[in-house]
Amino acid sequence: MIEHQQTEPRSLVLVTVDCLRADHVSFLGYSRPVTPFLDSLAERSAVFTDAIVAGAPTYFSFPAILASRYPLALGRDILGIAPHEQTIATALRDAGYRTAAFVAGNPYLSSRFGYDQGFDSFHDFLNSIPDGEPSPRGNGFRSTFNRFVQSSASHNSLTAAAYEELYFWYCQWCSVAEDFSVDALRRYPAADVVVDQACSWLSGLAKEPFFLWLHLMDPHHPYYPPEGASSALKSKVSARRAVFLNSFWNRGHVAVRRLERYREEVVSLYDAGIYWVDKQISRLASVLKHSQLWDDLVFAVTADHGEEFLEHGVRYHSPMSLSEQLIHVPLLLHAPALLGKQRVQTPFSLLHLAPTLLDAVGLPAPTGFQGQSFWPQILSGELPSEPAVVECVEACTNPFRREDRIRPRLMAVRGQSHKLVINFREKSERLYDLQNDPEERAALPPGDLPAVRARLLQVAREHLQKTSHNRNADLRLRSRLRELQQSTELKARVV
Ligand SMILES: [Zn+2]
Repeated sequence: MIEHQQTEPRSLVLVTVDCLRADHVSFLGYSRPVTPFLDSLAERSAVFTDAIVAGAPTYFSFPAILASRYPLALGRDILGIAPHEQTIATALRDAGYRTAAFVAGNPYLSSRFGYDQGFDSFHDFLNSIPDGEPSPRGNGFRSTFNRFVQSSASHNSLTAAAYEELYFWYCQWCSVAEDFSVDALRRYPAADVVVDQACSWLSGLAKEPFFLWLHLMDPHHPYYPPEGASSALKSKVSARRAVFLNSFWNRGHVAVRRLERYREEVVSLYDAGIYWVDKQISRLASVLKHSQLWDDLVFAVTADHGEEFLEHGVRYHSPMSLSEQLIHVPLLLHAPALLGKQRVQTPFSLLHLAPTLLDAVGLPAPTGFQGQSFWPQILSGELPSEPAVVECVEACTNPFRREDRIRPRLMAVRGQSHKLVINFREKSERLYDLQNDPEERAALPPGDLPAVRARLLQVAREHLQKTSHNRNADLRLRSRLRELQQSTELKARVV
């Protein structure tokens, strides 16, 4: 039963989980019980079975989540939230909310890229992030001599491969003598650390409404979940085995068939990270209930993108494709006005999340938002079925490098049953039938379903026209200026 009631502005909690794919939460059908708390919350929430990010990975996803703006709308070379760009945080702060963000060390969600805008209190945990990949032997392991051998071997592909193989197993052999805890190897602060700080901030609030944003990194690689999480899922592995799995999984130029041998164990580590996130969200909810804040709160949980485990021959979440594993994420909305379970089964772009959440707390969306509120339709259970547009820059794996950011665009138009992927470098388009081929094993032959193809192409065309004609030149220039100032400051520091 759904009831739309207009009340005083109420508070908002947004939890985003890095790398959490939709098919790895139990309330969307995953067979492992990784999300017991969210499963129970889903029984009293709006659950979106087809939530789609507007870009992937993090740096192409978050402009839509917080600022309701397509990631490439200010130009392919622009990263992050533009200086003075309106976001859900600025809108709520301007409406008198207390605002705080706790971001578990993701460098792309830092003040450098404008993500602190609108927050009275912004914690990015970046000071606790080690340089380089964690290693049981520390970062000085690769000696000068070793680098010399590597450099000599790299002149020939056969010797380079042999060197890589030998070096990998040498590192594993060395680590056998080490005694270490998995906690020391974790790259990002675990969810309990982030939730602790958020709870501490909550305890200092008076009666004013608040906006709390938490970004949790536990499912992000390297996969080092707390031991308690692995044990709870009956998939406990030793710290040494976890090091081996992460190291092997992270190797470059290794045949997929060799990686596949370890896929299941690596996925277990990933799942344990999700379990830990669920457990900590449950703890946060308990604190909110205990503080009498829960019943007058909008509580949203989603993700910035998913993760790939060789489904298409690749690992992690690089923008090499816009596969379902990357763009389909969970979204769960709990609010007082929703008195029962509601399943939204049409595609829902996270571009619309911020205006929808603002509407849910009784506030209008800023004029600069490109998305719109679907709160009334969620309450009435009548959401229109519109394709979601996803865009990124292909192979932009290091957005700190400008040349990476100006590569050709990759775009997907994700309908309910079909998806069109447009690769601007290849000048190709691929149409997938998600009903009959949910794993996107093969694109349909070019002549198939011309009407479906034309409809999705038309959506792509309108999207490109709209975003290029309505480009906000002021925000674009502000972003460019920020980048230039930061690089000048950096150079001055180096000199
Ligand atoms: Zn991410």
